[in-house]
Order: sequence, then structure tokens, then C-alpha cells
Amino acid sequence: MNLILLGPPGAGKGTQAKRLQDRYGTVQISTGDMLRAEVAAGSEVGLQAKAVMAAGALVSDDILIRMLAGRITRPDCAQGFILDGFPRTVPQAVALDTMLAGLGKQLDAVIELVVDDGALVERIAGRYTCGKCGEGYHDVFQKPARAGVCDRCGGNEFVRRADDKRETVAARLEAYHAQTAPILPHYKASGKLHQVDGMADIDAVTQELITLLDGLR
Ligand code: ADP
Ligand code: AMP
Repeated sequence: MNLILLGPPGAGKGTQAKRLQDRYGTVQISTGDMLRAEVAAGSEVGLQAKAVMAAGALVSDDILIRMLAGRITRPDCAQGFILDGFPRTVPQAVALDTMLAGLGKQLDAVIELVVDDGALVERIAGRYTCGKCGEGYHDVFQKPARAGVCDRCGGNEFVRRADDKRETVAARLEAYHAQTAPILPHYKASGKLHQVDGMADIDAVTQELITLLDGLR
């Protein structure tokens, strides 16, 4: 099953992609995570991306398209993939079509998580992850069962993203509306676009996604 999860920053794409990955065995591909790894490694791509990401703008299409082309051809994508954070522009969507056609693969669904802009600041400002296994949490909406201990791996060190500040949320939302939302008609025309209410609580969103995806199989 090959999926795209679309939606503004903080919509819940990463949270849901991890759950779908566990359920369906399809690998989550987060271009944001890939870029953060490049920044942490101090690679050439990381050096180019760092300031752009900190400002809440989009990294260049050239870099992203090259990065995704390398990732999607790896063996772990054979059982399917869930794209989280790609495509984010019309040129990226067009390049993805070409890549998939070349690989003889098809998208099964493109799912837009629909969330009010007003909810996103609180979601982003409260987001943190386990430094050991990457499990995602939220100060209010998704706390670990035992304070300070990761539910998944027992780790006790947590990290917050450098760009998850109230100040950068406006720029990130603007980038979403100006550059990413225009790809929705591209997928609507293909008949593969589905909308899911991302304002519901986390478990309810997962349930709606499972119902949708099981219905496609
Ligand atoms: P995205 O990957 O779309 O940027 P995340 O999945 O990282 O978004 O979610 C952003 C934050 O909001 C996280 O801290 C997550 O725990 C929380 N969150 C995700 N989905 C919901 C939801 N349906 N209701 C409340 N909080 C949510
Ligand atoms: P994310 O983790 O998806 O919120 O992405 C974090 C940041 O990485 C974004 O604000 C962008 O600066 C950059 N980024 C991630 N994916 C893309 C993409 N497909 N195109 C351009 N920039 C991206």
C-alpha cells in the first residue's frame, strides 16, 4: 500500500504514519526527519537546509526530489510506503508521478488530514519526541503513561525540534497554504484524494484511517 499523508504542520501526519506503519508494515518516509538527520550530520545538504528550516520555509525542490528518489527505491519500500511531508509543492508532486511511473508503482490513496489553523500552534508548541526511539508526544494531548518515561522504549530523554516555536508556526502555515495546498487539486483530479477529520482525538483519527484503508484493500 502506497500512501501520501497531507496536511499542515502539526496536523498529525507523523503520529498517524507511525501507527499505520505498525499496523500495515508499510514504511514511513518523513522528509522532515531525513532533513533533520542531514543537519545533525553536518552534510552538504544539511548545511544548505538548516537556515531554511529554522525560518519555517521550504527547502529547494531539487534537494527534496533527489532525496526522495534515493529513498523510495530502497528495499524496505517494497511492501509499500507512507509519505509524510512530501510532496510539498506542485513540482514535487509532478516529480513523484514520474518516479512512480518509472518504478511501475501506483499510489493507493492520498489522505488529507483536515485541521483548523487555530489548533496548530498549540499542537506544534507542545510537541516533543523520545530521543532514543523517536516516539512522538505532546505536553497536553499525548503524555507518556509514566511522566518522563517513553511508553515505547523506556527512554527518559526527550527532544524538541528547533523549529517548533510559536514564532515559526506562522511562516510554516503560510508555506503550507501558498505552496502545498495547491497540490490538492492535482490529487483530486486523480480520484485518489480522501479527507479525514484531523480535529478528532488521536485514536479516533487512527480509527477513521483504518476504516478508510481497509475499505480500499
Ligand atoms: P505533523 O507530522 O503533521 O507535523 P505530528 O504528528 O507531529 O504532526 O503532531 C503534532 C503534535 O500534535 C504532536 O505533539 C502530536 O502528539 C499532537 N497530535 C497529533 N494528532 C493530534 C490530534 N488528533 N489531537 C491532538 N493532538 C494531536
Ligand atoms: P516536517 O518535519 O515535515 O514538519 O518538515 C520540517 C521542515 O523541513 C519544513 O518546515 C521544511 O523546511 C523542510 N521540509 C520537509 N519536507 C520538505 C519538502 N517536501 N519540501 C521542502 N521542504 C521540506
